[in-house]
Amino acid sequence: MNAIQIKKILKEHDLQLNKRLGQNFLIDNNILDKIIITANLSKQDTVLEIGSGLGTLTKELAQKAKKVITIEKDKKLTEILKQELKDYENVELIEADILRSDLCKGRTSKLKDYKVVSNLPYYITSPVIRMLLESDNPPQEMILMVQKEVAQRICAKPPKMNLLAVATQFYANPKIIFSVSKNSFWPRPKIDSAIIKIEVRHQQMSDLEKDSIKKFFQVVKAGFSSPRKQLANNFYTKLSIPREQIKEALAECGLPHQARAENLSVENWQKLIKEINA
Ligand code: SAH
Repeated sequence: MNAIQIKKILKEHDLQLNKRLGQNFLIDNNILDKIIITANLSKQDTVLEIGSGLGTLTKELAQKAKKVITIEKDKKLTEILKQELKDYENVELIEADILRSDLCKGRTSKLKDYKVVSNLPYYITSPVIRMLLESDNPPQEMILMVQKEVAQRICAKPPKMNLLAVATQFYANPKIIFSVSKNSFWPRPKIDSAIIKIEVRHQQMSDLEKDSIKKFFQVVKAGFSSPRKQLANNFYTKLSIPREQIKEALAECGLPHQARAENLSVENWQKLIKEINA
């Protein structure tokens, strides 16, 4: 769909786009093709799409996958979508807020061994990624359109780590696949985007694992509480661990005693937390 076609549909339905919902629709067919190539779907695949918009990506996914479950929050759009998607028998449209839906939760979910492909509404990028990764029914992989700088943050490496990078890389391997100009959308957003692929490593988790993950993130969050400060200071303030003990643990991990949270990879964190507990 191009901008003229989108404007026509909106006019026909006397509809205005809702900026707050991150409604920037894809109008670039090259990018659409590249997303489909990246997703590498087969007729065995079930896909969850978050934010159907006017169904541009939905229709392409439906041609490649066995089943597409697409979720859209805006009631005005789902009215149009019902019409747009009526000939696509393998598409199920759900009108809901992804963050309030239990679609991905629990073993009873109708989603099993699924992939997520989405041009994500930008205002919920990190909560959606975290919800999906932490869920007890995570997807196998996600192909997501996100803001370029968020893509870079998610894929960051030491010494540029951040909490979102640790949260993602703990569960998955994220990779930037290609950049997308803001001109590929209508209405045009202020910043460029990128497509990232997130391959999930963890699948099922025991209660014991969940417990140790909770502890892991408590420590990581304490480490990032004042990101410019040294870890030894943050751990002392937030977790009351003596500075000397932290410096020794850092040395055991081969890290300098002045290390900051941004210097640590997921592996570094895992080793350090073991050392501190020992
Ligand atoms: N996939 C379409 C639309 C992308 S724009 C395309 O590529 O052109 C993002 C879409 O997400 C919008 O249609 C917006 O209404 C929808 N959306 C915003 N917040 C949402 C939420 N919390 N849950 C589900 N959909 C949401």
